[in-house]
Amino acid sequence: MSSEKPLTQDFAPRHIGPSPQERQAMLEAVGVPTLEALIEETLPASIRQSEPLSIGPGLSEAEVLEHLRALAAENQVYTSLIGQGYYGTFLPPVIQRNILENPAWYTAYTPYQPEISQGRLEALLNFQTMVADLTGLPVANASLLDEATAAAEGMAVAQRGCKAPRTRFFADRHLHPQTLAVLQTRAEPLGWEVVVGDPEASLEVEGLFGAIFQYPDTLGQIRDLRGPIQRVKAAGGLVVVAADLLALTLLTPPGELGADIAVGSTQRFGVPMGYGGPHAGYIAVREELKRALPGRLVGVSLDARGNRAYRLALQTREQHIRREKATSNICTAQVLPAVIASMYAVYHGPQGLRAIAWEIHRKTSVLAQGLARLGYAPLNPHFFDTLTVPTGSKTEAILAAARARHINLRKVDEGHIGIALDETTTPQVVEAVWAAFGGAMAFAEFTPQAHLPTALRRTSSYLTHPVFNRYHTETELLRYLRRLADRDLALDRAMIPLGSCTMKLNPTAAMLPITWPEFAQLHPFAPLEQAQGYQKLFVQLSRYLAEITGYDAVSLQPNSGAQGEYAGLLAIRAYHRARGEAQRNVCLIPSSAHGTNPASAQMAGMEVVVVACDARGYVDLADLEAKARQYADRLAAVMVTYPSTHGVFEEEIGTLCEIVHRYGGQVYLDGANLNAQVGLAKPGQYGADVSHLNLHKTFAIPHGGGGPGMGPIGVKKHLAPFLPGHPFLDGGTAPVGPVSAAPFGSASILPISYAYIRLLGSEGLRQASQVAILNANYIACRLEPHFPVLYKNARGRVAHECIIDLRPFKAIGITAEDVAKRLIDFGFHAPTMSFPVPGTLMIEPTESESKAELDRFIAAMIAIREEIAQIERGQLKAEESPLHHAPHTVLDLADENWPRKYTRAQGCFPAGQSPLDKYWSPVNRVDNVYGDRHLVCTCPPLEEYAQAAD
Ligand SMILES: *Cc1c(COP(=O)(O)O)cnc(C)c1O
Repeated sequence: MSSEKPLTQDFAPRHIGPSPQERQAMLEAVGVPTLEALIEETLPASIRQSEPLSIGPGLSEAEVLEHLRALAAENQVYTSLIGQGYYGTFLPPVIQRNILENPAWYTAYTPYQPEISQGRLEALLNFQTMVADLTGLPVANASLLDEATAAAEGMAVAQRGCKAPRTRFFADRHLHPQTLAVLQTRAEPLGWEVVVGDPEASLEVEGLFGAIFQYPDTLGQIRDLRGPIQRVKAAGGLVVVAADLLALTLLTPPGELGADIAVGSTQRFGVPMGYGGPHAGYIAVREELKRALPGRLVGVSLDARGNRAYRLALQTREQHIRREKATSNICTAQVLPAVIASMYAVYHGPQGLRAIAWEIHRKTSVLAQGLARLGYAPLNPHFFDTLTVPTGSKTEAILAAARARHINLRKVDEGHIGIALDETTTPQVVEAVWAAFGGAMAFAEFTPQAHLPTALRRTSSYLTHPVFNRYHTETELLRYLRRLADRDLALDRAMIPLGSCTMKLNPTAAMLPITWPEFAQLHPFAPLEQAQGYQKLFVQLSRYLAEITGYDAVSLQPNSGAQGEYAGLLAIRAYHRARGEAQRNVCLIPSSAHGTNPASAQMAGMEVVVVACDARGYVDLADLEAKARQYADRLAAVMVTYPSTHGVFEEEIGTLCEIVHRYGGQVYLDGANLNAQVGLAKPGQYGADVSHLNLHKTFAIPHGGGGPGMGPIGVKKHLAPFLPGHPFLDGGTAPVGPVSAAPFGSASILPISYAYIRLLGSEGLRQASQVAILNANYIACRLEPHFPVLYKNARGRVAHECIIDLRPFKAIGITAEDVAKRLIDFGFHAPTMSFPVPGTLMIEPTESESKAELDRFIAAMIAIREEIAQIERGQLKAEESPLHHAPHTVLDLADENWPRKYTRAQGCFPAGQSPLDKYWSPVNRVDNVYGDRHLVCTCPPLEEYAQAAD
């Protein structure tokens, strides 16, 4: 109200679904007079914040964009030839507009419901095939967070894959420095020793569970790793090779060198550097290690009609679901960047990729010859795209001369400069580099030569599958992208009421800046003075997040919620150690916790002790206190989600924090449910010490079909010294090392959350939380006459989500899955299934859904209840019901032979669904068991593909 802009430019009413009149009608349905009264009945008075947020009034979209333009203008886009895992690349415009800027792709959820996810599942299968082909290893997953964490995951796979109980791991001294730092962070709490050395000169293989080598190495040298790989393997260890995928179009792939595991980044496949991310990391393994793969794996299965259908394979083995037995906590990954990278390969095809690689190599060859003529012959005789040049006492002068030409080179050390070329490097850039070295020469004076070792030239083929050879014109690719997008149900079609995942509006205005060159084109290790706009944005965003949560300091480094949990627990661990209490390693976790909580605790070297929940879904405080007392000397932390994963604000959260503190523990509050609290309550004020925030839930970063995300953490003052450091910023001196490859995580998507906060302002943010709570209570009240609503507080209120219980219908043969699949026929994405309680659905509408959409959902649920009632009344058997056969497809509509007890129209257009706006599931119900028994994780063979395309 304080803003002077015209009301039509106020963004809050665009973001928040129900209008003031509709809110009033909904409040009546809920049975409270005002929104404030509802909040009083929902949040315990003891935790309510007394002061309004101090973020200021909401800005209009135009104002936010103007402000972000000004920040962007403070970033300077130099040509970065720093390399070190990040390279310039051309994002094909057809991919930029039709994937990165297309809500059909970027607003999709993780493909847990395979029937409505066939488009992105196919794109991810292409990604897996691309990685498997290029690395020469048969099984690849559907992405990891970045190259450094992929290396850490590779180390963990090696540790498990090693037959002997060993704890030593060898790391190539010529790994990218940030990769080495993340490996060290990861190894230490697990009690593993990372031995750094040279693969030839100092590799002592005895007692190693594994080793990692970089290929080509961080200095650009291409070494024949076959000898070191064989030695490690002969001594019983496993070998990880961190490899550049583009180089692998020309070089013998890791699988053919004998490696067990390959890891790396797919950034240079069309994904802008983005000052550090997001980009998709990759991991590929030998066949025998496939069940040890972390993260998500797309596989091929069949649907109920026997047609091919994709789905996530081995899902029950998904790492974070293994809880304290997990060896990785990866949950949200990097689906959207993985899809982009896969389409880059689809668009260019094998010849195109090889041509890009050769072109880069030829330019590097010319650069090397010119440098040699100037008296600066590179150290590495064999290279792909990176040279290391001995520069002696001239180092600083040359770096400065390059900067004067708007070029960043890498300072390897006091006497060496690194130069990495890429797809975007022009002859002028090469000439400018020579000029910085003091020479005036023309690119055309030199003839490119090949500098790849003959013994390591790639002979095997790759990307032979038709998908990589069919869509090389823009028209063909455009249509392929459209076809895949149309198979999926994302937020641009319907609400996605996923409890715990907060699938809210991703404001378009907030999305625009991420592709501006000033945000997209910066190298993460560019000098800080070139990134002043970013640095200002980080400071402001951190201040807002601290203000919202009541914490004192924020780290923007973690690339997902789970990575935030891990960083927060490392901070707690380091805090105890700094106080001489290194024995504190027990982490109490309620049984209702999200699976990433115990998985992260395990990775932080903690022992998980499970605390019971009572019948109301509350943490059992008596059990908590008993366990805290039992482990008083060793208590490190509790991890508690608030409001709980059961969707209620527990009254006693303050007491819970107090008990844990009394026994010397710290309180980790999982902030995934912050959407119920922003502007209403601050975890840092009511007793928590540290939280992660899922920016891809509460703060409007789109889910991207399963990533990217961001999981910054907020901490109280005493934990601030133990936030993750980064060698680029602190030279490796921080008490806790990095948890991500880049110092500020996926920096280029932070403007989204920043814009979201500024668009809503203090008052809009508070209203958003209030309406999120109203929407959930409205659904709970409207559905309660039809389905049992589990878990409410003493005044009968839920928080921002509610759980409906479908277990009573088990007796007549109807499951939560049947209801979830039937919702697809109504054009909805299912709510969260069977978490935190098996056999239930957890519904979180968020504030962005209008009353009309909520009513449409409620009507669908009531219609489904009537279909269940038909079975209860004995009119139909469960197997004869449309619930059992859902979702329905055009093949059902066109089925000449229809023996069912209901009509085709009842199956396909239930309860008045308009045929005009019908979302058609492209496949019938997917058979998960078949797919796991016959695991296929790369594009199916050519014949099958030809049939499917007919
Ligand atoms: C989403 C979620 C997480 C994990 O976050 P990611 O970003 O997927 O790693 C952790 N806890 C809860 C309660 C969540 O809902």
